[in-house]
Amino acid sequence: EEHYGFKRWGNGHISVDEAGFVNVQPRADGRGIRIMDVVQEALGMGLSAPMVVRFQDLLRHRVIQLNEVFHKAIREEEYQGNYRGVFPIKVNQLREVVDEIIAAGKDYNYGIEAGSKPELMIALAMHEGAQRLIICNGYKDNDYIRLALIGRKLGKKIIIVVEQLAELDDIIRLSEETGVKPMIGFRAKLQTRGEGKWSSSTGDNAKFGLNTAEILFAIEKLRAAKLTSALRLVHFHIGSQVPNILTIKNAVIEATRFYCQLAKMGFPMGYLDVGGGLGIDYDGSRTNFESSMNYSMEEYARDVVSNIRDICTSSDVPVPDIVSESGRAIVAPHSLLVVEVFERINKRESLGQQHQPKEKHKIVTDLEFMLKNKGKLGRLERFHDAIQKKEEAFSLFNLGYLDLENRAAAESLFWQICEKIDLEGKKSGYQPEELHDLSTLLADQYVCNFSVFQSLLDHWALKQLFPIAPIHRLDEKPSVKAILVDITCDSDGKISSFIDLQDVKDYLTLHPLNGKPYYLGIFLTGAYQDIMGDLHNLFGRVNEVHVFLEEDEPNGFYIEEALSGSRIADVIEGVQYQQEDLCRKMKAQIDAATRKDMVKPREGVRLLELYESQMLNKTYLHIEPKNGRKK
Ligand code: PLP
Repeated sequence: EEHYGFKRWGNGHISVDEAGFVNVQPRADGRGIRIMDVVQEALGMGLSAPMVVRFQDLLRHRVIQLNEVFHKAIREEEYQGNYRGVFPIKVNQLREVVDEIIAAGKDYNYGIEAGSKPELMIALAMHEGAQRLIICNGYKDNDYIRLALIGRKLGKKIIIVVEQLAELDDIIRLSEETGVKPMIGFRAKLQTRGEGKWSSSTGDNAKFGLNTAEILFAIEKLRAAKLTSALRLVHFHIGSQVPNILTIKNAVIEATRFYCQLAKMGFPMGYLDVGGGLGIDYDGSRTNFESSMNYSMEEYARDVVSNIRDICTSSDVPVPDIVSESGRAIVAPHSLLVVEVFERINKRESLGQQHQPKEKHKIVTDLEFMLKNKGKLGRLERFHDAIQKKEEAFSLFNLGYLDLENRAAAESLFWQICEKIDLEGKKSGYQPEELHDLSTLLADQYVCNFSVFQSLLDHWALKQLFPIAPIHRLDEKPSVKAILVDITCDSDGKISSFIDLQDVKDYLTLHPLNGKPYYLGIFLTGAYQDIMGDLHNLFGRVNEVHVFLEEDEPNGFYIEEALSGSRIADVIEGVQYQQEDLCRKMKAQIDAATRKDMVKPREGVRLLELYESQMLNKTYLHIEPKNGRKK
């Protein structure tokens, strides 16, 4: 249990019960839901892994938590303004997610942030309540601006954030055309550099924001258009997952200076938007390592509030309402991906000792001698010798001097030697540096029925780490070192770096497969991963269940919604094939083969039936029960 760090990164939401099952406590109040029960119930509904499990109560809990910590900081710091957070829907646009967030944020006037036209279309329709903000970020064309102005007409507090100077000309022109007075914000390009994987969101080369000269030009444009009263907000965003609180402090200070300068010029202002960046402690180390964060949500809120207050007070400017655009911190914890391990690839076993050569080549007997280590050589020396012999064996094979059996024996012996050296090192407690990678080299590959490209894109693209652990069998000691590989035909489709307290671990210790289904949870995947995935190998969307706490249910939960993942017909139509057309083409080929007597007519009908019925099947593997096991 400790091995997987549930307590460290789980934030009070994850526990393990006596029977070795992982439970999620959506409200961190001791009421847990066994993930395995959810998986079983979903199976009963015909949905198998890979599967996203969303805990809707956890989503609600996070919205309340973020708003409460800001309210508390405001009270304690005696701050005179309000907190008016917005949820950036790009982080998870799913309707049920957005619905839950809007409902949870009702009492807090929690709003929405849009970063594109389609997102604004969602925001406009879903938004309710005159006090809740809609913040419009991202590149904007005329229609984007027109849509935002419709929002103003409907009495919504919708603020168009100017990211590029040219946008302001369009806003001014369209507001004159439509007669609607906009609310405008400026995104400032800060000098404060972010830290972590997404740090290029600020600085001179950032894609977004106005530099100081551009802000001055923008001011002139507003004055010329007699729209000075429209400027209401200063915005910045220093990148997602900021690991270090010092970065946040500095950015807040710099942006508040911008705010105060503008307020002093006589613009009405009123809002300071500190963007996203509030982190998630994916590895639970509480450090400023990029998968972690060296601060809590409470500290974040206090720092934002107190720094804004200090700068405003010293500049003699009334404090603004504070807007923040935390996405990751709201949605990452609420969902996990459940994957089934269905196969194990083990280097030594598959090479098989059963293939004993009829006539052993000298290289094989040399390796056998090395394995027995009669010469009592040191581990490092034996490792070097074994590598030399293995290379020699491959050269001999290429030159035609080594047959298949002897090659197989040589490979197998090499891995046995490595395993023995690794084991001796563990026993002695010391392993020379060169041998540190042996464990990784020897790790098994656990093949999981999912696609990294669909479900864990940030791991593939940016090496972002997610906590991964079995969701059952935690009353058994795990003993197999493994890396995870997916079912895409791509060697990149794997997970070979895992969270660790000190650094990054290159294997995970898991349970031996026992013929029964073995499930892993990939946790904290509720932010960005759902939407960024791609269709590599046409695997498409996975199944999904939305889980709610329920007092009267025997398991304490119910599945409110079950979304079925992509079917083969769905994904192939997405790349412009027509299901009917493909079936027609197959039929023509089968008919032709029947005419040529290559297949019997009855067989032809069956072949076509198989092809057609697959169209409605799921894209991921249909894992058949092994050893008569029931699923
Ligand atoms: N606001 C803007 C402008 C962003 O670009 C982003 C994402 O990078 C966010 C908010 C959300 O950031 P986070 O998920 O780190 O809270």
